[in-house]
Amino acid sequence: MFHKKDSRPFLIAGPCSAETEEQVLTAARDLQSLQDLAGLKVDLFRAGVWKPRTRPGAFEGIGATALPWLRRAKQETGLRTTIEVANGNQVYEALKHGIDVLWIGARSTVNPFSVQEIADALRGVDVPVLVKNPVNPDLDLWIGAIERIRNAGVTQVGAIHRGFSAYAKSKFRNAPYWEIPIELRRRMPDLPLICDNSHICGNREDLLEVAQQALDLNYDGLMTEVHPTPDAAWSDAKQQITPFIYSELVRSLVVRRETTDNQEFLENIENLRHKIDEVDLELLNLLARRMRIAEDIGRYKSRNNISILQAVRWNEILERGFTQGRQRGLNDAFIEKFLSAVHQESIAHQQAVMSGGETAA
Ligand code: PEP
Ligand code: MN
Repeated sequence: MFHKKDSRPFLIAGPCSAETEEQVLTAARDLQSLQDLAGLKVDLFRAGVWKPRTRPGAFEGIGATALPWLRRAKQETGLRTTIEVANGNQVYEALKHGIDVLWIGARSTVNPFSVQEIADALRGVDVPVLVKNPVNPDLDLWIGAIERIRNAGVTQVGAIHRGFSAYAKSKFRNAPYWEIPIELRRRMPDLPLICDNSHICGNREDLLEVAQQALDLNYDGLMTEVHPTPDAAWSDAKQQITPFIYSELVRSLVVRRETTDNQEFLENIENLRHKIDEVDLELLNLLARRMRIAEDIGRYKSRNNISILQAVRWNEILERGFTQGRQRGLNDAFIEKFLSAVHQESIAHQQAVMSGGETAA
């Protein structure tokens, strides 16, 4: 159900939280009316009913009282509904009230006990389920949660990428670490993948950029928080947008195809890829050469009883790397990641020769 039809992204939109019956109905009506106003069809209406908040005392959701509001919103607008569930009882309540799709939140995906409880409650009920990534950047935990839900007999499972907690400050509320969903795609190519640009960004300004990036990585859909009066929202006010701004955002997205049968395009791309493969081989040869030199250094240090790590030297490598990288259009964050990996591997090679084991595996 979540796969794109005609290259069109699957759209999930609605408020962070259900707040009042009026707010839920207004949000659903406004989103539904975008079809006539802007030719934009929302596929699923979202609203949080039980809200996992970081600190106690914040608005923790209306609870089961809001479920009939969602049922009414669906009856009136025809929009199918989705909410977050975090335990067996919430699954039971959601299904009792005719919620069409369930999602598992980031704070539940981290906990196999919670996921298993949800999976057990779903046994025998084949309702579609979306599994958000865990808060921590751990792909296996994400995959494990997906497997638990599938093992319960749920046939329509999808993943939502909502970004990861990071200690380092950045412009994002939750760091996207695109490499993790990309690897998920490689390991589970048929799994529908949806980008929650709202929780990645934590602001309104970057929503379009992140959504476009997701589409360019061939995601199947988007989940975005849309509220009739975002500034007055009871949760996540900073990242929510009005239905009008939402329609502008979706309309400015460029939907590109994954591939084509245009021969000229295919040949040109093949040539360019061939060049990339050659450069990759060169890089591997250079890296192997660098490791051999590191081993020579290791032997030499060992004979002279000198330790492996000299902090000043590593700092020098990094600083020079930044300068030379910038001159070549390579950003500091990439240079740091790249040189750290290379440096760590060099240390492993030096350690191996020092401890007499020759090269590191
Ligand atoms: C949400 O979608 O409202 C939510 C709480 O998301 P997450 O689990 O990604 O924090
Ligand atoms: Mn939210």
